[in-house]
Amino acid sequence: MPLPFRIGFGWDLHRFEAGRPLRLGGIEVPHPRGLSGHSDADVACHALGNALLGAAGQGDLGAHFPDSDPKWKGVTGAGILSEVRAIVARAGWIPSQFSVFLIAQAPRLAPHREAMRRAMAEALGMDPSCANVAFATPEGVGALGRQEAIAAHAVAVLEPSAQWPASREAGSVEPGGSGGRSHGGREPPRSI
Ligand code: MG
Repeated sequence: MPLPFRIGFGWDLHRFEAGRPLRLGGIEVPHPRGLSGHSDADVACHALGNALLGAAGQGDLGAHFPDSDPKWKGVTGAGILSEVRAIVARAGWIPSQFSVFLIAQAPRLAPHREAMRRAMAEALGMDPSCANVAFATPEGVGALGRQEAIAAHAVAVLEPSAQWPASREAGSVEPGGSGGRSHGGREPPRSI
């Protein structure tokens, strides 16, 4: 008997780059440098998107939003989450709960916790009370500690939508099913 919910894990990392705004968790955070990427490089939203896709058995962001596709140039983190919400809905699921964990030496992110929580929950059509945003510093260790990049981890829970039985019969919740694109044996595309 299948579980009445699904859990997914996601991760992402983006390097710092001068001259770009820092976008995290669906908002802009004041900082002298932003993150590098084909998109707005919102590492928190990308980790969460990977968790949601994983829970639905729909692969990863790189498969759905390759950085070779000009369609996704400059796309915001909230925009990605809206797209992911549609992908998991087609697979028969709706976001129920998530927790995002950002690892950054700087800037200090705690003052922005509630804004990030609201922005990401809103992009997914969720009540913010079902969302959590957490932070840690890498204690000066490694590339993250040297402020070369910011990384994020995320866990997401999906519950079946009203269309769940029909979707299951169509096989769309199976890994590699209709919603996910195959890498075709090539190197997987880089995520946005
Ligand atoms: Mg990314």
